[in-house]
Amino acid sequence: MTINQERLWNRLEELSQFGKLENGGVTRFSFTEAERKAKDKVISYMVEAGMKVTEDAVGNLIGRKEGRISNLPAVLMGSHIDSVPKGGIFDGTLGVLAGIEVVQTMNEKNIETDHPIEVIAFTDEEGSRFGFGMIGSRALAGTLNYEHLQYKDTEGITIEQAMKKAGLDPTQISKAARNPESVKAYVELHIEQGKVLENHDISIGLVSGIAGPLWTRWTLKGEAGHAGATPMNMRKDPLMAATKIMLHIEEETKKSEPAVATVGQLNVKPGGVNVIPGEVEFSLDLRDISLETRDKLEDLIQSLAYRLCQNEGIKINIETLQRVDPAPCSKEIKSVIEASLRKVGVPLLTLPSGAGHDGMQFKDFCPIGMIFVRSKDGVSHNPAEWSSKEDCGVGTSVLYETILQLANRK
Ligand SMILES: [Zn+2]
Repeated sequence: MTINQERLWNRLEELSQFGKLENGGVTRFSFTEAERKAKDKVISYMVEAGMKVTEDAVGNLIGRKEGRISNLPAVLMGSHIDSVPKGGIFDGTLGVLAGIEVVQTMNEKNIETDHPIEVIAFTDEEGSRFGFGMIGSRALAGTLNYEHLQYKDTEGITIEQAMKKAGLDPTQISKAARNPESVKAYVELHIEQGKVLENHDISIGLVSGIAGPLWTRWTLKGEAGHAGATPMNMRKDPLMAATKIMLHIEEETKKSEPAVATVGQLNVKPGGVNVIPGEVEFSLDLRDISLETRDKLEDLIQSLAYRLCQNEGIKINIETLQRVDPAPCSKEIKSVIEASLRKVGVPLLTLPSGAGHDGMQFKDFCPIGMIFVRSKDGVSHNPAEWSSKEDCGVGTSVLYETILQLANRK
């Protein structure tokens, strides 16, 4: 193995001490003492790896290894070290430590690259504390506004107040924005958080893109009535219509693989055992890595639903709650990762990322690429989250080869 797997693993264990829970997981929110201590530790690793470290206006930690040729744009690697409540020790942290390991290995081998290389630990990716995430990556891409800083945590503390308490100046956030011309690419290694790699018995995966969620709320109105006194052919039952719509959603989404659709909330009113429902509300989370596919699927599902409701005398209203564009990975970076997988000896498996990651914020900023490391049982956002030492090492070796290619002119 090119990189030092033991060192990487020791650091993972060491960082897991900050915000540690009794059952082995971590709770590490942004702008807290636990996060500050973890950041200081990360700074010490970056220094040990031979990087120059800075902390920008939103608290992003940036370690930099200069390139051989001056003024070339930097190749960025990164992830986050904040966690969800009662989270695991790999989510985010592995990507940051893998990046540091890549640079440290290069420096130990006296390898220079044409382009500078940076490793970034982004501030608050998860959004667990304020219900608003990817703060650091938004700031770097220049899309974080002062208004965003008014989101509050459960104690009523705004991002702005938390930043001040952490010694940052919220009026300066625009200084964290980078000129896109100073960045060549962004590559993130992350645990898969799903079971696809495990089911294929493959340790590392090539990510095709980051799916964007479309959230809609559907309201169907019919006629409430007596469950015993209303014959079947005289009903306008919105729940029966919703059920048929959901079957269409499942059927059509399966035809558009790897798109995924989830109805996670269902509200039936008035909700009596012996009452035909008068109104039904349900949520739909629809995702794909291609906006075109997702748009087509959305149109198809909605037109089927409107037709069905019209036939059954049901009123339907669809409200959009959130529409996040997917972020496809760059063709060029994907082919570099593919070659790196070959070099390290991992069979190729391409899969989409259903979960969001910092790279999404760079969709219109720079080319992005992602490498997934197999997750045990697909468990994540849970103390039981696990990836083996070997898999973490192999993934970091793939990252190493990828960065070495991207940071040199052909
Ligand atoms: Zn993450």
